[in-house]
Amino acid sequence: MCPHQNGDSPVDPSQMVPVNGSPNGASSTPTNGVNGQASSNGAQSTQNQRRNPYAPRASDFLSNVSNFKIIEKGEQFANAFFDTKTKIAIAKALDAFGVEYIELTSPAASEQSRRDCEAICKLGLKAKILTHIRCHMDDARIAVETGVDGVDVVIGTSSFLREFSHGKDMTYITKTAIEVIQYVKSKGIEVRFSSEDSFRSDLVDLLSIYQTVDKIGVNRVGIADTVGCANPRQVYDLVRTLRSVVHCDIEIHLHNDTGMAIANAYTALEAGATHIDTSILGIGERVGITPLGGLVACLYAANPEYVKSKYNLPMLREIENLVAEAVEVNIPFMNPITGYCAFTHKAGIHAKAILNNPSTYEILKPEDFGLTRYVSIGHRLTGWNAVKSRVEQLGLTLTDDEDDRTGQDQGTPRTVRTQSMDDVDSLLRVYHSGIQSGELAVGQKEALDRLLRKHRLESEGKSCDSRETSASRGESPERVTAA
Ligand SMILES: [Zn+2]
Repeated sequence: MCPHQNGDSPVDPSQMVPVNGSPNGASSTPTNGVNGQASSNGAQSTQNQRRNPYAPRASDFLSNVSNFKIIEKGEQFANAFFDTKTKIAIAKALDAFGVEYIELTSPAASEQSRRDCEAICKLGLKAKILTHIRCHMDDARIAVETGVDGVDVVIGTSSFLREFSHGKDMTYITKTAIEVIQYVKSKGIEVRFSSEDSFRSDLVDLLSIYQTVDKIGVNRVGIADTVGCANPRQVYDLVRTLRSVVHCDIEIHLHNDTGMAIANAYTALEAGATHIDTSILGIGERVGITPLGGLVACLYAANPEYVKSKYNLPMLREIENLVAEAVEVNIPFMNPITGYCAFTHKAGIHAKAILNNPSTYEILKPEDFGLTRYVSIGHRLTGWNAVKSRVEQLGLTLTDDEDDRTGQDQGTPRTVRTQSMDDVDSLLRVYHSGIQSGELAVGQKEALDRLLRKHRLESEGKSCDSRETSASRGESPERVTAA
């Protein structure tokens, strides 16, 4: 629990964490503010980067936190039965977002998955299309015929899987792996070899088969935490060890059974992994794998400019909505970036600091994701301090009594009201001009509502009737459309 949650702690500017700005957050240019602009000056970006306490450290010489590729997958979810049309829509959206690879269900699984694979390969997307197959020549022959850019081969190497699943020993696994890899390579496309349940496999067996496939020219080797048992330290150790024995790229696939998937993915990059498997909203077997959105949030905190240059971040919410609808789930309220509460501030001292400089309590800039920051101004925890502070920033003059009533007049006092920053500002401006012109006096809620309606109609035109209705109900328009 955040120790400042009650909003009763002092705000010491020297303790504010600058994200892209000056050390004390008192930069002359806005840093993470509503009107904040990212610097286009290279030298300044480098300087800002150095100041970001979450940036990769120089001592992590193997780290790929600022040099990685994302492989998007995700049909192994209990509710995921995508038809061709849905698969194509999701693939196009992912391509527009900018993921480097899209992995599809094995064409050997069904006639439909084979046809879908061919259809998506024909779309001519920028993202490379992969398919995931068992380490078997029959599957490999079907896969290479679909027109994919690469084939991901997997086989279980843990004693559990060797004994209870496919029943093969390491000699057989190695021989088959060589045969399949050489065949796929002969077709001129990428090939990845992954073990399954890697963290419960014998380390000597693992390193030996990875070295073998590396020598015959596999493009990537994959590590898979199939049961979601690994912790970040174990991930670091295994990837780092593997990095020292193979020359090819290293991919990692992490299940989220203990909630470690994002942390483990980040650690894998630090240890030298190059490719991370993700899925939208983390959907996958059981509780799924590393979610794309959460991983992007984590990597953005380390290097915002790199992540912004690679991916079309404002598309994230659209893709998540698309997939959430297709698999009939809701986006969790605490989802990084797109969760209902991701950019909502409530406690009084937080709200005041956020209005002054959003970097005080935000590591992610909502505007970089095409989203809006919300401040709950009608709540008793917000207090008139925050409102007064914003009134001053806007250059308005109101007495303390008038300031104090602004939020309360806008709704029933003591109820939670969430407003976007723009809504807060227009409320304050309308209130101010109403008081100044004499059309409004303190405590006249109906008069204020009337002035606000008039203001919105004037500024938005009558085409925004639906927004008007939601605004007069006290709901944020963006929240209504996002619901
Ligand atoms: Zn998996």
